[in-house]
Amino acid sequence: MPAPYRGRFAPSPTGPLHFGSLVAALGSCLDARTRGGEWLVRMEDIDTPRNVPGAADEILRTLEAFGFAWDGEVVCQSSRRAAYGEVLEGLRAAGKVYGCACSRREIADSASHPAIDGGMVYPGICRAGLPAGRMARAWRLRVDAAELAFEDRLQGRVAQVLARDVGDFVLLRADGLFAYQLAVVVDDAWQGITDIVRGADLLASTPRQIWLQRCLGHAAPSYAHLPVATNPAGEKLSKQTKAAPLKVAEAAGELVAALRFLGQPAPAELAAAGVRDVWAWALANWSFAAVPRQRGITILETAVDRLSSP
Ligand code: GLU
Repeated sequence: MPAPYRGRFAPSPTGPLHFGSLVAALGSCLDARTRGGEWLVRMEDIDTPRNVPGAADEILRTLEAFGFAWDGEVVCQSSRRAAYGEVLEGLRAAGKVYGCACSRREIADSASHPAIDGGMVYPGICRAGLPAGRMARAWRLRVDAAELAFEDRLQGRVAQVLARDVGDFVLLRADGLFAYQLAVVVDDAWQGITDIVRGADLLASTPRQIWLQRCLGHAAPSYAHLPVATNPAGEKLSKQTKAAPLKVAEAAGELVAALRFLGQPAPAELAAAGVRDVWAWALANWSFAAVPRQRGITILETAVDRLSSP
């Protein structure tokens, strides 16, 4: 028997939720609930320099005000460092990770081409051992040159050759922090997540995560990468692009706009009816098949604009 559905929403407390985060939360929650599944919220707060004080609480309060109800306790990744350390130690003992002394500068100087999502492909300088007299700054996972492919429920077949597209990637950073790739894989497996529904901005990370799952002997969850909301300049909504925080007073309208973004024909009148009615409609009418199979969709600035647009 396949494991029962368990999904999750995993915000980083780097600021308030915006429309793009609402789309990811709503898509993952509705997919889980309409399949009789559980839905968890996990706070991805290990990148401590990027955390904003108070943001984690504000995110949870906003989710509640928008009518989200999650199963179990919210796990904060900051409380999971011992687990990440143990996993890293196991990989080290198995020879799957190695210490790397290279600075960003040294990598930039000897790398031949850029990585698929920023930075340069690590040229493997420390792969066979640290150069004499150098100390490990970061720890990298070895990848290979075979094609790694998976079938995304929305984006179809996605393939990467990790050695060419990414290179050996960092699991423990030079600043002593565990990398997102390690924490997300360890926690998805530990929490028994079967289905990951998240924004397509994370699509390029997924082959790395599947590779790490394989190195650790975990089964790969199923993936669906939702289109991300972009502003008219084509930039993903984010703190950096000054996306407007979600307004609790406009919760029903924002939910209707997010449903429409996800291809669901939610009637505009629902916005006036209130959050409960929007959820009742969404749970009764959710159609995964209607979600656009695109990586990005441009939206207008405000929920009011979005609702009145054709
Ligand atoms: N914490 C990540 C983010 O906010 C999401 C991680 C994930 O869904 O895998 O972008």
